[in-house]
Amino acid sequence: MKVFSEVEERLKDIERDIKKCKKCNLWKVKTNYVPGEGNENAEVFFIGEAPGKEEDKQGRPFVGNAGKLLNELLKKIGLRREDVFIGNVLKCRPPNNRDPKPEEIEACSPYLLRQLNVIKPKVIVCLGRHSTSFIFDLFDIPFRGISRERGNVKKVRVWNRVVYILPTYHPAAALYKPQLKEDLEEDFKKIGEILRRKKVSLLDFGIE
Ligand code: SF4
Repeated sequence: MKVFSEVEERLKDIERDIKKCKKCNLWKVKTNYVPGEGNENAEVFFIGEAPGKEEDKQGRPFVGNAGKLLNELLKKIGLRREDVFIGNVLKCRPPNNRDPKPEEIEACSPYLLRQLNVIKPKVIVCLGRHSTSFIFDLFDIPFRGISRERGNVKKVRVWNRVVYILPTYHPAAALYKPQLKEDLEEDFKKIGEILRRKKVSLLDFGIE
């Protein structure tokens, strides 16, 4: 019998809560809830906007073409999906992939916050404008639009240490505008740089 760690148990609790959620109307139109998935010890937490068609079908985040690109970008910086945690601001698919409504974000985002509080990542990567604006808002960082913010790493203090926030484009955007892929690759390189940097600058993190 597999024994789950405390962190895994807490993530499973959140997943159970999501899978019975009716806090906004999206549960009525979704096929599957998409709670998010990944390594419970992840140093990097990726946040997308909401499940798309394929994610809704499979109940897993980033499994369509945008997911393939995400895997490719991860591989280029020496990470695998199993090393990171991937979730969305919304856990149910909005019809026809429309933008999330503010009341849906308000209803659903506590699940994401609970996941963040359990995983306590070193790096939060915001994929696209909706997740960036949500996370910036959380830390009172002014948001000037994704094309101006992408690649600009912010440092915030949370969980008694420094956490890095990296905003970048949503991989789906690069599927429509291939010229954005280079920007994404450039931004992803910063994840590797941050993970390497933290090993040498202990003062950044405080010694607990
Ligand atoms: S989108 Fe979030 S808040 Fe709305 S029903 Fe789904 S899980 Fe609940």
